[in-house]
Amino acid sequence: MSKQILILGGGYGGLLTALTARKHLSAAEASITIVNRFPTHQIITELHRLAGDTIAEQAVALPLSKLLGDKQVNVVVDTVKEIKPNEKQVVLSSGQVQKYDTLVVALGSETNYFGIPGLEENSLVLKSVSDANKIRKHVEDRLDAYKKSGNKADATIVVGGGGLTGVELVGEFADRLPEVCRSKGIDFNDISLYCVEAGPAVLPIFPKVLIDRAVTSLEKRGVNFITSVAITEATKSSVSLKDGRTIESSTIIWTGGVKGNPVVGSSGLAEDRGRSTVTPTLQSTSHADVFLAGDCAVVFPEGGDRPYPPTAQLAWQMGETVGYNLAVQIKGGVMDKFVPVFSGTLGSLGRKDGVGTIGGNATQLKGLPASLMKEASNIRYLSHIHGLFALAH
Ligand code: NAD
Repeated sequence: MSKQILILGGGYGGLLTALTARKHLSAAEASITIVNRFPTHQIITELHRLAGDTIAEQAVALPLSKLLGDKQVNVVVDTVKEIKPNEKQVVLSSGQVQKYDTLVVALGSETNYFGIPGLEENSLVLKSVSDANKIRKHVEDRLDAYKKSGNKADATIVVGGGGLTGVELVGEFADRLPEVCRSKGIDFNDISLYCVEAGPAVLPIFPKVLIDRAVTSLEKRGVNFITSVAITEATKSSVSLKDGRTIESSTIIWTGGVKGNPVVGSSGLAEDRGRSTVTPTLQSTSHADVFLAGDCAVVFPEGGDRPYPPTAQLAWQMGETVGYNLAVQIKGGVMDKFVPVFSGTLGSLGRKDGVGTIGGNATQLKGLPASLMKEASNIRYLSHIHGLFALAH
């Protein structure tokens, strides 16, 4: 009898699980259902460009129905409310209950506000297409308000967190805002663009030479970096810093970190600080009929004590391992252990600049080659999921 595979999440982990499982399992062997809160698979690695208005929404929001159209995968657009692994059921926000033989949880991560007063209520985040659209509109509205009132807080943007999300976003603003200001009759010199990082340096993932390169390039384009100082409070129109300074700003974008998805943390699956613990074959350590892919799992290298980072490239690779292992669980054979391949890390600094490493820190890229390589890596991903076809039709 056909087994019921239920996949929660249509991001990198969930989509790649579905595509890979279907390669190995016919519709007679398994029915596959994917539940996602949006009808689209979102290319979150490019959201900073949507926020900065340098890419169209269609390029970062690909309809799941198109990507999975000929794969006999059911797509349910709904939000997961509760996972009941002991009853083999998942409750959705609409009230619908989905049953399964095997579950895949790929629900990603959530923004971590670290309990900083006022931050959640007064900041914008960059986790989805709708968040990116909100940022773009908010910035434009504040600039319009500045034009009328001359209120400096409306001409000040603070990005909290200097990881890749924060720096890529600030890079996009640095490129795009001069043009936006020109079109609104505002002097770009009136705009203050801050990136505040609690740690001693932004982009700590990169070697110093690339960090210096990124900072110099962005400072030249008007970005003010404040490092070794944490944001301690936010209001509608200001950001307080640990050193006692206050920045008057009505645009605060928080990119300070992520945490496990609370739906997963409270599900009863074995977990470690809100992220599910997994076996080397990516099964829950408490429930062998539940697999995990992406940020909602915590995966350690064999013998290592620091988990792998929550990145899109690892979620994609985990999805492929899970997709294969689902077929093994149903048809027999030996499951694959998850062994990540680190192709490198590339960060854009606006449209024509970037920094990156390829294969560990062995090869370093900067400038246009890094930016082009990032572009190419996105095209490679889209081609892998047949997204280029989905974009064109
Ligand atoms: P992150 O956790 O990597 O960075 C958050 C930064 O915010 C940290 O440097 C932290 O020190 C800082 N921070 C925390 N609290 C603060 C405070 N109170 N005040 C000021 N700064 C504070 O988060 P991210 O940038 O969203 O990245 C999440 C994951 O996704 C990472 O693994 C990252 O590598 C990956 N990512 C990759 C790409 C890419 O490959 N181009 C792009 C975006 C994200």
